[in-house]
Amino acid sequence: MPSSSAPVIVWFRDDLRVGDNPALVHATEAGRPIIALYVLDLISEFPRPLGTATRWWLHGSLESLRTSLLRVGIPLVLRCGPTIDVVRDLAEETGAEAVAWNRRYDPAAVALDNEVANAMHDLGVKVVTCAANLLFEPSDVTTKAGGSFRVFTPFWRAALQRGAPRVPLPLPSDRSNPLKVSGDELSEWTLRPAQSEWAHKLSRVWQPGEQGALERLSEFVDRRLNGYARARDRPDREGTSRLSPHLRFGEISPFQIWHAVRNRQGEDADRFRMELGWREFNHHIAFHHQDLHERNVQPRFDAFPWRENESSLQEWQEGRTGYPIVDAGMRQLRETGWMHNRVRMIAASFLVKHLLVDWREGERWFWNRLVDADPANNPANWQWAAGSGADAAPFFRIFNPIRQGELFDPEGSYVRRFVPELAGLPAPQIHSPWTVGEQRLKDAGVTLGKTYPHPVVDHKAAREMALDALKDLRNSS
Ligand code: FAD
Repeated sequence: MPSSSAPVIVWFRDDLRVGDNPALVHATEAGRPIIALYVLDLISEFPRPLGTATRWWLHGSLESLRTSLLRVGIPLVLRCGPTIDVVRDLAEETGAEAVAWNRRYDPAAVALDNEVANAMHDLGVKVVTCAANLLFEPSDVTTKAGGSFRVFTPFWRAALQRGAPRVPLPLPSDRSNPLKVSGDELSEWTLRPAQSEWAHKLSRVWQPGEQGALERLSEFVDRRLNGYARARDRPDREGTSRLSPHLRFGEISPFQIWHAVRNRQGEDADRFRMELGWREFNHHIAFHHQDLHERNVQPRFDAFPWRENESSLQEWQEGRTGYPIVDAGMRQLRETGWMHNRVRMIAASFLVKHLLVDWREGERWFWNRLVDADPANNPANWQWAAGSGADAAPFFRIFNPIRQGELFDPEGSYVRRFVPELAGLPAPQIHSPWTVGEQRLKDAGVTLGKTYPHPVVDHKAAREMALDALKDLRNSS
């Protein structure tokens, strides 16, 4: 029988915040000492190793969490090792009464959490799990027949019919007498590369952590929500919230975001809420589809004739395809760890449909490079772009990267920023430099094939090839 001084362990995962944190609130209500735990599990590499950019982010996020927790008198304990062993050891060592956590939904995460729960039951330690990171539990939103949704619109309608998302929970009250428990130093985990120019650049653009997330939200609501519905598609403007990496690590909850805009009417607020809905939908898909980053949601795509195309893949990764809007996006990703949504769609479509490279290659690259690389949003969006996903863009709808550039970067300023070697070209030709006359190119200091590549494929020919590949798939199924 645990004594009344037996602590409650709050196991933090993708919920690195103190505000609106149901597991933490539950633990404080128990009136016992609290141990906040974060586990780095490199051994089982669960669910797959974090990428370079998310490791960078995690470091900042944990630093910020440690500070916020200390303000309410709770120490953050960092431990590295196989998750089950770490949680079990800490529970035994401290004689914990309970372990509380906020639920995850990816099948691999659910399986691990169940294993930890079983290990705690064997020890006689209580397990408390809370809903915190999605507005709607995936298992609660079902079709009339009780199944899962595969199309966004009815999913979102059914979700909203469940009633308004709950209001955010208050900050936990200050604790006295924190327990002293040993843990690792964050710097020992070397999540950030030493002396890296890339890391310095990221620090200039982002402020990981709860404080940065709340500031971004209020700045967005005050200054950019008005006009969002139109500006969100323009990579040349700061038209979106850039909350995605904060949401990825749970530094802010979707409930806090929802309630910050709940009284706003009109197409801008509706559109913004709908984007949060896409996040919910993708987690719903990931909950119902194991290994979303490896397996096609539509199995007929298993027979798609993807090409082994190492050199094209590399050109795409390095932003040297010769299509300026694609290259600008890929370089934005390299430089800032983030890419505008419209350009993610264009770049992903280009890889799978113009170069016929398997979407999994692109997903892996994004996974490694994006600060918001998310186990549900990344593979679900890649499968959307490839046509193999739930409610996906049909494969035969092929983005024209020149037209997309002209439409969404009409003055060419996004391309000029990230592809400076084309800066001297006028819009709209900046999106198709090979159509610019020789003298004009010369005046702008551009030599195609030298200072900037020729297009790696011809748009029309690539389109035909993609449609032929789709025909082959149809014939084979
Ligand atoms: P806003 O426009 O301000 O939207 C607010 C929030 O809504 C976002 O932070 C995000 O949580 C959610 N949201 C917006 N668009 C989408 C969408 N299409 N799907 C799901 N949720 C959305 N998003 C990630 O968070 N992580 C990823 O790893 C990721 N990979 C992607 C890969 C591809 C190929 C594509 C096409 C999209 C991907 N997205 C991913 C979705 C989207 O691009 C980003 O969520 C968005 O660009 C983030 O910017 P923001 O926060 O300014 O978005």
